[in-house]
Amino acid sequence: MTEQKKLAEASLDSLYRIFTVPEAPDSTLGKIDQSISQNLTGFLQEHIVAAERDLAQIEKDFSNPFIPQEPSFVSDQIEFLLDKVVAQSVHIASPSFVGHMASALPYFMLPLSRIMTALNQNLVKVETSKAFTPLERQVLGMIHHLVYQRDSQYYETWMHNSSHALGSFCSGGTIANLTALWAARNTVLRPSEGFAGIAQEGLAAGLNHYAYKSLAILVSERGHYSLAKAADILGIGRRNLIAIETDGRNRIRPDVLEQKCAQLHKDGSRVMAIVGVAGSSETGSVDPLDAIADIAQAQNVHFHVDSAWGGPTLFSRQHRPLLKGIERADSVTIDAHKQLYVPMGAGLCVFKKPETLASVEHHAEYIIRKGSKDLGSHSVEGSRPGMAILVHAGLHIIAKGGYELLIDEGIAKAKAFAQMIREADDFELISEPELNILTYRYLPEQAKLGLASADIEVRQQTNKQLNRITKLIQKTQRGRGLSFVSRTQLNPKQYAREPIVVLRVVLANPLTSMEILANVLEEQRAIVATDPAVQEALTLLPCT
Ligand SMILES: *Cc1c(COP(=O)(O)O)cnc(C)c1O
Repeated sequence: MTEQKKLAEASLDSLYRIFTVPEAPDSTLGKIDQSISQNLTGFLQEHIVAAERDLAQIEKDFSNPFIPQEPSFVSDQIEFLLDKVVAQSVHIASPSFVGHMASALPYFMLPLSRIMTALNQNLVKVETSKAFTPLERQVLGMIHHLVYQRDSQYYETWMHNSSHALGSFCSGGTIANLTALWAARNTVLRPSEGFAGIAQEGLAAGLNHYAYKSLAILVSERGHYSLAKAADILGIGRRNLIAIETDGRNRIRPDVLEQKCAQLHKDGSRVMAIVGVAGSSETGSVDPLDAIADIAQAQNVHFHVDSAWGGPTLFSRQHRPLLKGIERADSVTIDAHKQLYVPMGAGLCVFKKPETLASVEHHAEYIIRKGSKDLGSHSVEGSRPGMAILVHAGLHIIAKGGYELLIDEGIAKAKAFAQMIREADDFELISEPELNILTYRYLPEQAKLGLASADIEVRQQTNKQLNRITKLIQKTQRGRGLSFVSRTQLNPKQYAREPIVVLRVVLANPLTSMEILANVLEEQRAIVATDPAVQEALTLLPCT
């Protein structure tokens, strides 16, 4: 038998054994490494993005709710994982997987994440994370500098300051946005004469004390759904997350934003935060951040930038100007598990002023004590893994120069793909790529007539059938498993805000070539030509 550990029976003796390191390497565990590297090579070469079986079938492998009474061999579990989990996973790393914000990882992230698991530090407090806490504070400082570009004196003062933090490291953009809005809310309803602050007294007392009817958060219609969750959790209410109209390129309209602020003020509502989007999830659009900053400043409102996706554009000397004004934001969200290419579970929010985050400070005696450098005193989450070592590794190994290349490549490729779509007679570009995301749809000759019709009903009927066709193409392509694009629904200006279903492409994998993208279109044409449901929808187009 190999050195593998087995709980032959649930005895204390065998329990002790699984918590000690084996004398000889466990050969069954080696199988996992082998399989994963084989699979990765397979993903890259075969361009297969998903296994053939459908979800309902796969669910059968995971249908037993009963925890086994008897222990089993590690190798049994590994067999199961290789067969039922690894083999049936989505091949995110494939260069023809261009539909979502997840993409391939640099090879070194895998062994480095083992260090993290092996050490199992808990970033909630220094007592469980010695080197990791200063390292995470450094990472926060580095991203803070990427955004705000303060001088070294500033970071000397604040980066390792025991009563402040330059930001909050968390599991992703959702929690980062929540953290920023939490700080904004607590700053608006801060302690004052006769009021101990919202953190102590609650929302109702806060609104009452300051005589506000409600709080509001303003963001463009392209705002991410995590903001709605934050509005809910923070007690603001989803209705008070107000969507501001966008222009023809999906960017917030500052004139409408300003009017809305004035109207809310008149109605007795307090605007708690204005959120600018830098890289919207659906279209990659970037709001005019400087113009938003002017409005936020004039209204004395917290200005947050959600650059979960687009933040790393700051590495690009060519494209950084698109985000001009971000340095005026009170807080900025950046997801590390997107365009910093670290594994899932890493995001952060940085704050312009170190005092802002103090509004959510929380202390406990046995943990996160006052005056300690514990990062847990400023975070929504409690126990947290040392993901910062992976961001730290990326920032050193890939560095500014590497990230700049990755960003520039992705945007150049998106522009080239947009051109390819524009030149095709049977596709229509719906949103121009501002960053590395674009949307488009299949548009055959006979539908163009319908869209050009003077009759509004004919136009609507045409779009309705086109929406059906787009959905069918996307689903069939996903089912075939050779390549993957996602789909969403937009209300573009060019179609009088009618709902238009679009195919969405995100270009973040440097291995995605123009040839692969040309093949994505070819495959969609092939689906149109052969899929009976698409054929049927085509006959239902008016003007055919
Ligand atoms: C991805 C994303 C989020 C949410 O981040 P998660 O990491 O998925 O929690 C928020 N905003 C934008 C613009 C995003 O792209």
